[in-house]
Parts: sequence; C-alpha cells; structure tokens
Amino acid sequence: MAVIYDRVALIGLGLIAGSMSLAMRRDGLATEVVGYARSAETRATAREIALVDRVCDTLAEAVKGADLVVLAVPVGAMEAVAAEMAPFLKPGATVSDVGSVKGAVIATVGPHIPEGVNFIPAHPLAGTEHSGPRSGFAELFENRWTILIPSGAKPDEVAKLRALWEGMGANVDEMDADHHDLVLAVTSHTPHLIAYTMVGVADDLRRVTDSEVIKYSAAGFRDFTRIAASDPTMWRDVFLNNKDATLEILGRFTEELFALQRAIRTGDGDHLHAYFTRTRAIRRGIIEAGQDTAAPNFGRVAEKKT
Ligand code: NAP
Repeated sequence: MAVIYDRVALIGLGLIAGSMSLAMRRDGLATEVVGYARSAETRATAREIALVDRVCDTLAEAVKGADLVVLAVPVGAMEAVAAEMAPFLKPGATVSDVGSVKGAVIATVGPHIPEGVNFIPAHPLAGTEHSGPRSGFAELFENRWTILIPSGAKPDEVAKLRALWEGMGANVDEMDADHHDLVLAVTSHTPHLIAYTMVGVADDLRRVTDSEVIKYSAAGFRDFTRIAASDPTMWRDVFLNNKDATLEILGRFTEELFALQRAIRTGDGDHLHAYFTRTRAIRRGIIEAGQDTAAPNFGRVAEKKT
C-alpha cells in the first residue's frame, strides 16, 4: 500500500496506539512510526517488542518533524499532553486523537493547537478489555468503524486521515462531536456502566451465596465481567467527559427498566414479549450488518491473534 504520512508520532503506547503501529507498519502506510509513553517502563517494553520504529524519551522529540501526531492517552490526560507538545509541532502537521469522547477532547485540546496545524479528532470503535503496550494487534480495526470529526479541517487533510484508517482496515464515517457523544453513550458508554453495575451487584451477592455466582456463571454474566474488566482510568475519564449524554441515556434506561419491572410485577406478559421481540430484531440487524457474530461476546469480534 502507498505511504500516506511520512512520519507518524503516537503519543501513548497502549492498546490503540500499539495496534495502529502494527497495522501501519504491516501495510507500509508511514515511512516511520515513532512513539512516546510517559513511563520509562512502557517505553522499555515498547523497545523490547519493537512496537514502533523508534521510541522517544520525550514528548518534544516524538512530535518534532511528525506529519501526523495521534494522541492515544486517556481522555482526561489529553489537555496536558496537547499543551506540552504544542510548541514542537511542525507547521502543516495534523494532530488527531483516538479518545472515546469527542466534545470534551475538542474543548480541551483544540485551544492548544497552533495556527497552521490541522486538528482532526477521531475515534476507532474497536477495542478489547486489555491495555498496555503488549495488548495491541494489527487486525484490531479490520471491518470496524472509525469516526472522524472534521470540524472545519481542510478537506484534503481529512481525506488523508481517512485513507490511513481505511488502510488499517477500518470503515470510516464522519459526524459532529455532539452526535458522536450521544451515539456512543447509547452503544458503548451506558452499556459499560450497566456491566460494571451488574458485576458489582453479583460481587455483593457472592458474599451471601459463596462461589455460586462464578460457578454457575452463564454466558450473559461472563460477557458482563469481560466488559467490566476494561481499563478503570480510561472508563473513569469517559464518564467524566461524556457526562450529559451518558446521564441522558441512563435516565431513559432507568425509565424503561421501571416499566419492565412493573410488567413483571403485574404479570403483563404481552408487554414483556413485545419488548423482547423488538430487541431481538435489533440484535439480528447488528449481525446482518457484519458488526458481530452470533456468539455472545458483546461485539468484540477481533480477538488477539497469537
Ligand atoms: P492503554 O492501553 O491504557 O494505554 C494508554 C497509554 O496512555 C499508555 O501508554 C499510558 O502510558 C499513557 N498514559 C496514561 N495516562 C497518561 C497521562 N496522564 N499522561 C500521559 N500519558 C498517559 O489505553 P488505550 O486502550 O490504548 O486507550 C487510549 C485511548 O484510546 C483512550 O483515550 C481511550 O478512550 C481510547 N479508546 C480506547 C478503546 C479501548 O477499547 N481500549 C477503544 C477506542 C478508543 P504509561 O503506560 O506510560 O502509563
């Protein structure tokens, strides 16, 4: 595949950055991929497993001369990173990110982007519950969606970033930040919160019923525990930074839950049956769209290849 960017700098060397590096290098999408992580330990691991072409010991060194800089750190860390790297950005470069929330990233990172540097936020809808420099794999983005938020960026620079994501195997869509945050609150953020809650409830229950929760754990609960094993820092930052949309969806969820609770109490089987018929059709639609298999794994089709 043709080179799209000469030098790409990945800031943060965890699941998403590592997967990007492996995919870009596999397909020759960049001449050089450099990386920076805040801890010496992560940088040492990245060097040991050759996660990027070159690991830099400072943020300034990583972004200097880079044509594309991708922030792949938790959403709550992005503003400080952007402020620190801003003086070293190359004129004409593009800054992007992979944060799971977009409105807050635009509000906090945007003001630090210097005149003459393009800012195109992005979010790959792909992940696992694993994190850190050893968790990445080149196939992570294949047949998954990446959402770009062009927000007034030059169309040819947006086209370049789109080509990079498509080169890594993703399907690309564009939308505005508010819409993104609402859609993700429905499809990802609130479901994660529910999984965290359900696992918490079961954990409390386990104190009463010994190990029965684990022993008789059915697939539904096992899927919840997998989601609830996701990185605590990342998910804390998601909820703190997508507050309005998550609270809106959580409010609607609670209303529906009360309605189902009432239907169970009053023996309203028609209500329950109609509701479950509607939700079943949604599940079938997702499978038909190629976004999941029939296996109960909550959309995590891409498994780490060993
Ligand atoms: P990860 O595996 O935990 O890696 C995070 C990286 O960020 C690490 O290299 C870490 O450095 C660095 N970092 C953490 N806190 C930092 C701070 N305060 N200042 C500077 N660097 C810091 O995370 P990830 O899963 O790749 O997630 C990265 C971004 O992608 C997040 O914004 C997340 O919302 C987004 N995202 C994640 C998923 C997913 O499923 N995981 C999916 C889509 C988007 P050290 O190792 O040195 O601590």
